[in-house]
Order: sequence, then structure tokens, then C-alpha cells
Amino acid sequence: TATVGTPALTAWIREFARLVAANRDLLTELDSAIGDADHGANLDRGMTAVRKALDGEEPGTPAMLLKRTGMTLISTVGGASGPLYGTAFLRMAAAAGDAGTLDAGDCARMLRAALDGVVARGKATAGDKTMYDALAPAVDALDAALAAGRELGEALKAAVRAAEEGTAATIPMIARKGRASYLGERSAGHQDPGATSVTLLLTAAATALAD
Ligand code: ADP
Ligand code: MG
Ligand code: MG
Repeated sequence: TATVGTPALTAWIREFARLVAANRDLLTELDSAIGDADHGANLDRGMTAVRKALDGEEPGTPAMLLKRTGMTLISTVGGASGPLYGTAFLRMAAAAGDAGTLDAGDCARMLRAALDGVVARGKATAGDKTMYDALAPAVDALDAALAAGRELGEALKAAVRAAEEGTAATIPMIARKGRASYLGERSAGHQDPGATSVTLLLTAAATALAD
């Protein structure tokens, strides 16, 4: 059974930073259709700052790492996604508590806490065309796969598939939260940028936390 420590979680966050940089233009292009064309730049600025913070000093515990990441995102990312991602990481830090390593169930509870943080902060629900529409099905799929006896790596792959499906399902949705909601019905026909970046976060987890 998996034990996830600070090095594996650091690898997760660094892989997310890499994927955000590699997909920066895609995220910005998606945001140009239904927002203000800055989601890629926002997240890349934040994750570049996170990477720099981690280069300077290796946090000693999962909670310290996750808190450092959340605080850095809140202080460097303008726009809706900064506080949302920041809160998600701060809630994950709280869920990690003072543990030095996390097992598969702890990882699932951590990601559930991230989802709860996004909801507490942004009040989104299913079908609002937001990050929620990728993260909620992913967390549900993770729980279901672990309950069915899957290893963490396999369960995270199921979570990625659910996030991808959830992201594709945002295309016909009419946005009810965030900037895209100003467009009303004209927001339909475009994939949500935040759901897309959340899928990168889960893809990074499946890469870095699986073994
Ligand atoms: P801004 O809209 O301020 O420019 P970003 O472009 O960085 O911020 O992020 C936009 C993304 O934030 C959206 O695609 C959506 O997924 C997410 N988002 C916006 N508002 C909310 C909310 N209330 N709850 C959850 N996610 C939201
Ligand atoms: Mg934007
Ligand atoms: Mg903006």
C-alpha cells in the first residue's frame, strides 16, 4: 500500500507546475473565449513562484509544503483562480495535519478537503461550468476506486478519467459562476479553463503519487 511523503507531494506540485507551463497557451486560449484570457498566465505566474519558493527551502512535512504552496498562490495569482487554488491547498494542508506520510485513504481525504475548500470559497455546484465540474467527479471516482480495493496509482488514473470527462462536459454548460457567467448563453460551446487546469493537477498526481 502506498505511503506518500513530502518528497512525493513535492514531485506532484512540481509536475503540476511543469504541466501548467506546458499548457499555458491552451489555458489562456480557453479563457479568451469565455473570460479575460489570463488563466494560463495567472496559474503559470503562481506555480513559477511556488517552484522558486520550494527551490529556496524544502518544507519538512506534507502540511508545511501544502501550506507554502497555498499561501504562494494566494499572494501571486490575481483573479478568481488564485484564492480558489490557494484555498484548496490550504485545506489539503489542514487535512494532512502533522502526519509525515499519507496513505491512500489520507490522499483521498486530502483531495476531498480541497474540493470542500473550493466550494466554501466559490459556492459553485455541479453544472456551473467551473473547476468544480472536474474536481468533484474526480474525488468521487478516487473514493469509489479505493473502496473497490484499487491501489492508489490505479485509483488516481480513474480520477483523471473522471476529471477529463467532467471537463468535456463543461463545453455545453452555461456558466453560472465567475466571469464566464457574464456571457450567459454565449458561454455555451466552450470548455471551462479552470476545469481544464484541475485536470492537469490530477494528471500530475497520477504521475507523481503512483506506486
Ligand atoms: P479570472 O476569471 O478572475 O480572470 P482565472 O481566469 O484565472 O480568473 O480563472 C477562471 C476560472 O476560475 C474559471 O474557468 C472557473 O473554472 C474558475 N472559477 C471562477 N469562479 C469560480 C467559482 N465561484 N467557483 C469555482 N470556480 C470558479
Ligand atoms: Mg481569466
Ligand atoms: Mg482575470
